[in-house]
Amino acid sequence: MTEKIESLEDIIKDEPAFRRQQIYLAWFDKNIHSFEEITTLSKDLRAKLKNIPWMTVKERVLQQSKIDGTRKALLEFADGRVVESVLMPRVSKKMIPGDKPRYTICVSSQVGCPMACTFCATGKLGFSRNLTYREIIDQMRYWQELLWKTEEGKVDNIVFMGQGEPLLNYNNVKLALNILIKGAEIGPRKITVSTVGLAETMNKMVDDKHWPPVRFALSLHSAINENRTSIMPSNRADFLDFLVDWSKRYHLAFPSRTHFIGIEYIMLGGVNDSPKNLDALIKLVQKMGSVKVNLIPYNPGSKKDFFGATPIETIKHWQEKMNQKNIICTVRRSQGLDIAAACGQLANLDKQND
Ligand code: SAH
Repeated sequence: MTEKIESLEDIIKDEPAFRRQQIYLAWFDKNIHSFEEITTLSKDLRAKLKNIPWMTVKERVLQQSKIDGTRKALLEFADGRVVESVLMPRVSKKMIPGDKPRYTICVSSQVGCPMACTFCATGKLGFSRNLTYREIIDQMRYWQELLWKTEEGKVDNIVFMGQGEPLLNYNNVKLALNILIKGAEIGPRKITVSTVGLAETMNKMVDDKHWPPVRFALSLHSAINENRTSIMPSNRADFLDFLVDWSKRYHLAFPSRTHFIGIEYIMLGGVNDSPKNLDALIKLVQKMGSVKVNLIPYNPGSKKDFFGATPIETIKHWQEKMNQKNIICTVRRSQGLDIAAACGQLANLDKQND
């Protein structure tokens, strides 16, 4: 009879909280490369952890954009499944020669995605499974290690905007967030969780005392309900009314004045970019309290794609109109377009040529 292989969770389930913390801290320590090297743990515990893999992701392919230096990795897990994860350098005007860039990483929370948004390449893959909390944080550890090796700088911003719908994997995402905040010492304001908008889970989140005060972003893409349903099949008939009501509760739960609700809006030519759409968006966000609108130029997916991009003049016009109404509005700069690493293009390298 073969012996059951114990998982990390089996081994540490009865350990006190501080022991777990020691492990979480060690995962982000540049000088520790195995459980055996965590000298704060007892010898006995270290022996038990001997066969547990130190990393749950393995690099299968790594690509780099020639335009802006964005890197995209295809990462493989123990079961052979893969996700994509992205590293984006942030160049700031304040940088002086010799300064190392800061990096934002875009992490995945599921293998594939069941939400089937019509404009998103990941949606076309369908859903395979949720990632474990380790598979989520190990994307960060993978990028950090790469930057350590090349002495290029550090990751200081994390967006959950890779493959998958984070709120469908609530418990793993929550644990990963808490470990990242404590272990990697990334402030909660430097982490953004982006969602398609799942009402029940959004309710659960605002009531959850253990959900950390990370930034929240909603993929809105239309403030006209039928229009939203036509591009996002997961939309509910009463979603926009719910959103207004929910926003009030969100602001009560996270009262800091700098805690905006992020609104993401992909501009799809002839689909959601009419003057009527703009009016509806302005009316909606004015009811939502403190928000920050981020207009996203559409990034084409596969060759079979049927959406077109909105002209940049229209996007600028929307931005001006919103600024005139005192609504903070930015336009997202797409990074990594030449290696299909931009928003909505994450479709796993081996499937891209289908
Ligand atoms: N499921 C989550 C997180 C992944 S998507 C969500 O929907 O928010 C991350 C962001 O990329 C979202 O705002 C998403 O709507 C946007 N996106 C998807 N496809 C895109 C495309 N083709 N061009 C530009 N942005 C896209």
